[in-house]
Amino acid sequence: MKKNLQHAFFIASILIISCNNPAEQAPPAEEKMEMASPEKPAYTPEMVVNKTDFTCGMPTSAGISDTCHYEGKAYGFCSAECKAEFQKNPAAALAAAQ
Ligand SMILES: [Zn+2]
Repeated sequence: MKKNLQHAFFIASILIISCNNPAEQAPPAEEKMEMASPEKPAYTPEMVVNKTDFTCGMPTSAGISDTCHYEGKAYGFCSAECKAEFQKNPAAALAAAQ
């Protein structure tokens, strides 16, 4: 929320500067590049049903780099290797986790 406020202030600053210099307008593409920050993960823990990686036991809140769907649910994994291991026998992995 705090970041959103800072972001809004940043946009407001650009608008004020743009008003002072009508010839120099901020390109809208600049904002898009800022939105696609590399710090933002592609997957969030809220997107998956498992709290931990079934294969290595790492919490999904620590970072998800791959996901897979099984029986209509999304599961997150720290790596493609962990996902591949889960996909070898999803039923057994789920049973072991419960
Ligand atoms: Zn893992």
